[in-house]
Amino acid sequence: MNAAVIVAAGRGTRMGINKVLAPLCGVPVIVRTARAFCESGLFDGGVVVVCSQEDMEAMRAVLADVPVAAIVPGGSDRQQSVWLGIQACDPSADILAIHDGARPLVTRAVIESTIESARLYGSGVAAVPLKDTVKRVDGQGCVVETPERERLRAVQTPQTFSAALIRDAHARFAQSEHRATDDATLAEWMGHTVRLTAGDPENIKLTTPEDMLLATQVIRRRSGLSGEESTMRIGHGYDVHRLVENRALILCGVHVPYTLGLLGHSDADVALHALMDALLGAAALGDIGRHFPDTDPAYAGADSGKLLDHVVALLDGKGYTVENVDITIICQRPKLKDYIETMRQNVAAHLHVDTDCVNVKATTTEKLGFEGEGLGISSHAVACIARKS
Ligand code: MG
Repeated sequence: MNAAVIVAAGRGTRMGINKVLAPLCGVPVIVRTARAFCESGLFDGGVVVVCSQEDMEAMRAVLADVPVAAIVPGGSDRQQSVWLGIQACDPSADILAIHDGARPLVTRAVIESTIESARLYGSGVAAVPLKDTVKRVDGQGCVVETPERERLRAVQTPQTFSAALIRDAHARFAQSEHRATDDATLAEWMGHTVRLTAGDPENIKLTTPEDMLLATQVIRRRSGLSGEESTMRIGHGYDVHRLVENRALILCGVHVPYTLGLLGHSDADVALHALMDALLGAAALGDIGRHFPDTDPAYAGADSGKLLDHVVALLDGKGYTVENVDITIICQRPKLKDYIETMRQNVAAHLHVDTDCVNVKATTTEKLGFEGEGLGISSHAVACIARKS
């Protein structure tokens, strides 16, 4: 029986946030990594994810749809975290694979090779030849040795072992001063001859923002998209509100002086409602009725600008940024031209984009229809969004 431990307990400070929770082509890194293992069909003993205590809640949320066996809190360093993960694995597993949560591009072939090797020889560690010549240096950065490159390998994960070997190794060194940066080192310290298997140059550990760019290109290529192919998406929104007395007229967050105002559960900002539906539509996130039901008293009189901020955060969470938007307000009266610039600036601020990325225009309907008769105001919006690279 094979079980796996995915270690995601680092804080990823080099990238500003916990890098494994960051979206990669719209899917959190840890979700991609966990899926690679769960969907490989190689782990009948389950997959355990180890994360820091502070990330437990976020980790449970993002992995809700991934069939991991357990999510357990890690320790003060990688070695301790792996040991805690191993102890959470099914005790009847006789093969244990250990993998970095920040290596989402691992392939089934790479995982399988490590398992086969571990079955035959007790260990199988993914590794690749080095492209760069490596120098050993002293404390001053002076070269003291140049090892022969042909004999050097960069080791990756998974590092897979007979369960007895790696349990013994971790148990022995858990209480000691000895700290290893990978699990193969512990097996070496136990006197075991570690076997290497073919890793993959694309099985990179995501450490820097540049790694994320590279990973994005790999994912696009694997999904049949060329690196240059656009990941832009478009959405459309439409809304109507009735004009009544004793209500303020708010359009694109701007108060427009008029004898009538729009009737609605929220502030009835018809233009921002159309815009939110366009944004949600572009991201395939439904519509504002789903996110802000008008039966919910929480949204009574709501500032639509605040709702728009929430929509922008939803898009951000799915890995999208706004490219540009175009809003049309269909309104016979009042004249809106004096307010258009303020509307653009206001919308741009909510979307975190330049004013140049926001267009607002107003039109009448030649007195035809409900807008023309002054009974209500309608609005159309289109939004273009793109994947963050
Ligand atoms: Mg509405």
